[in-house]
Parts: sequence; structure tokens; C-alpha cells
Amino acid sequence: MEEHVYGAVVLAAGSGSRMHMDTPKQYLMIEDRPLIYYALKQFQESAVAKIVLVVTAGEEEWCRQQIVERYGLPKVCAVVPGGSERYLSVQAGLHALEEVDYVLIHDGARPCIDQKLLRRVMDAVPRDEACVVGMPVKDTIKVASEQLWTQETPDRRRLWQVQTPQAFSYDLIRSAYDWVVASGEQAVTDDTQVLELAYGRQSRLIEGSYRNMKVTTPEDLEIVKLFLKNMQ
Ligand code: C5P
Repeated sequence: MEEHVYGAVVLAAGSGSRMHMDTPKQYLMIEDRPLIYYALKQFQESAVAKIVLVVTAGEEEWCRQQIVERYGLPKVCAVVPGGSERYLSVQAGLHALEEVDYVLIHDGARPCIDQKLLRRVMDAVPRDEACVVGMPVKDTIKVASEQLWTQETPDRRRLWQVQTPQAFSYDLIRSAYDWVVASGEQAVTDDTQVLELAYGRQSRLIEGSYRNMKVTTPEDLEIVKLFLKNMQ
């Protein structure tokens, strides 16, 4: 029995335009299941008590029937419409989640999470209140000028690429999101960034996995298919 109540917000709104495909990436079929199923299944099988699924406005009923019911995901307690940007979708998901101590926010476009990774996040968040999985970058990263000249080379040993899940005390992240959305800040691509903006507060980095990649472009889909096959 878990000492704390954990909830999850799984994001599956947006058009995924960088895939250049007619079907939104979250519904592309891998084997015989839509991409979004794989992340939801991992949350379903974890110690998370409830899941809010955020989808493109107008697709709620279809997702409830064709994904939640069809594939047997009873921990999904609400399917709600997202917003025009990721951070607005997160805020909608947080508002639909009730009575949890901690929340894990996850990109549905990252299907290769596993139980070990979820457990690491759930163990860390009661201690740290805010945490994010990530991995050290492999390549050297440059800061570029608008004219595409290299301006700076940050020390690679301190650079991490962050992934999801990002996990927080529920009240803390909800109030931070409400503050940031009300402030009109728009360059928000990450949940820990919301805490930085609202409260100047840091989040703990914990070890993710290089397999936990986000499907953004068609090449990513090929790699993820292979990873999912090996996970079965
Ligand atoms: O496409 P992008 O990399 O921004 O998507 C990251 C995650 O955020 C995806 O799982 C996508 O479904 C979700 N998203 C969302 N609402 C948006 C844009 C993206 O839920 N408006």
C-alpha cells in the first residue's frame, strides 16, 4: 500500500506537425496499438492511483471509447481538452486532477517509459517536492546567434537533456502553473521551468533513460518501434 496518493497527467493534445503526417502522432499505430496506449499502460500498471488524459479539444469522447475503454485503462479518471500550447494542456490536466499528494506529468509522445523509471520518480518526489528525469547530453551544445554563428559553448559536463515524467507536490505545481499562465509568460516548454519562473525554485534531476525519447519526427518513430519491441 502506498503511503502517498500519486496522480498522473498524460499529455496527448496537439497536432505534432513536425511528423508531417495526416494522423496526429499520438494515434499512429505501433504493432496493433496507438502510440499513446504504451505510456498509459505503464501508468496503469504502476502505483499511480489515477490518470488524467489530456487530448485535443473535440477528441475527448472518441479517446474515452477508442483508447480508454477499448484497451482497458480504468485508472484514467478523466479525459479533458488541452490548449493551444503544451503548458496550457498541463494546466487543464492539473485542474482535472483531484485529491492527490503528488503528480507526475508525462508526454504521451514518450512511449518507452518503464516501471523502474516510474518507481524512481515516485520515490524521489516526496523527498524533493520537485523532480525531473533527464540524461547527460552526448553531443557538444552550442548557443547560436540569429545569423547562425556559434556564440558560446556551455560546459558539456553540466548539461542535461530533460525528459518526462516531471513530478511535483500537487499544490506546488498547480499554483505555479496558475501564476505563470496568469502572468502571460509564453515561452514555456517544460514543467520545472514553471517552478523556476513562478518561485525561482529548483528541481532535482534524477536518472532517466536514453530510451525514454519523445517522438517528434518520423525517424524517432522508427527507433521507438524497435525499443518497444525489445521491451515486450
Ligand atoms: O509536440 P511536443 O513535443 O511539444 O509535445 C510534447 C507533448 O505535449 C506531447 O505528448 C503532446 O501530445 C503534448 N502537447 C499537448 N498540448 C499541446 C502541445 C503538445 O498536450 N498543445
